[in-house]
Amino acid sequence: MKGQEYAPFLSKIVKVKKHTEIEYTFSMEYFGDVKPGQFFEVSIPKYGEAPISVSGIGPDYVDLTIRRVGRVTGEGFERYEGDSLLRRGPYGNGFDVDDYKDSELVVIAGGTGVSPVRGVVEYFSHHPGERNGMTLIAGFKSPGDILFQEDFKEWDQTMDLILTVDGAEDGYGDSTAMGWDGVYRSQDREGKGVPLLADQVPWFWRGYGTKDMEAGRKF
Ligand SMILES: Cc1cc2nc3c(=O)[nH]c(=O)nc-3n(C[C@H](O)[C@H](O)[C@H](O)COP(=O)(O)OP(=O)(O)OC[C@H]3O[C@@H](n4cnc5c(N)ncnc54)[C@H](O)[C@@H]3O)c2cc1C
Repeated sequence: MKGQEYAPFLSKIVKVKKHTEIEYTFSMEYFGDVKPGQFFEVSIPKYGEAPISVSGIGPDYVDLTIRRVGRVTGEGFERYEGDSLLRRGPYGNGFDVDDYKDSELVVIAGGTGVSPVRGVVEYFSHHPGERNGMTLIAGFKSPGDILFQEDFKEWDQTMDLILTVDGAEDGYGDSTAMGWDGVYRSQDREGKGVPLLADQVPWFWRGYGTKDMEAGRKF
C-alpha cells in the first residue's frame, strides 16, 4: 500500500451480523496486513467518512462493528451482503499481542469500544499459556445492548470476566453484573452475589486497575 495510504479501495461485504437494532458487524473482504486496534475510514460519497475499528480479523476479511448514529453510519446500514463499500486504511498503531505476552492482563471496554480490543482478547483466550492471569471488564447499557454475545460465553470460560449492564429487567441474572440507583451487583463463579457500589460504569474504569487492584480488592 506504499504511496496509496490515503486512497480508498472498494471492498465487498461478505456477511452482515445484527447485534442490536443499531449495531451490526460487517465482515468485509480484505487481504492486507492489519492489527487489532487499527481502524479504517469508511467512505461513502456524498455522505462523508467515518473511522471504524477493526473488530475481527480473518485470512481474507476484516470485521467492522458499526453503531448507527448519523449520516455515514446510517447510510452504511443501507448496504447488504454482496454490496461494496469504499474504505481507506488501516490506520493507527493497533495492538501487538507480543507486547502483552507473559503479562497479567486487565482489559476494560464498553459498548462498541469492545471492538478494538476484541482481537487481543480473542488471541489470549485461545492462547492462555501465553499470558498470566487475565481479567476482562466490559460494560453495556442493557442486556439487549451486549455485543459479541457468543464471544462473551467463551471468554467467561477462559478468563475472569466481569460483564456489567447499567440496568435490566427484574429477574435478569446469570453472571452479568447489574446496576440500578448507583448499586452494582454481580455474581462470582460460585454463584454468590457480590454487591458492588458505584456511581456509574465509569467508576469501574477509574477505580478498578488502580486503587482497588493495588489493595487486592476482589469483586
Ligand atoms: C479511531 C476511531 C474508531 C472508531 N471506531 C468505531 C467503531 O468501531 N464502531 C462505531 O460504531 N464507531 C466507531 N467510531 C465512531 C464513529 O467514527 C462515529 O460514530 C462516526 O464517525 C459518526 O459518523 P456519522 O456520519 O454516521 O455521524 P454524524 O452524522 O457525524 O453524527 C454523529 C453524532 O453527532 C450528532 N450530530 C450530527 N450533526 C450534528 C449537529 N449539527 N449538531 C449536533 N449534533 C450533531 C449526531 O446526532 C450523532 O450523534 C470510531 C471513532 C474513532 C475516532
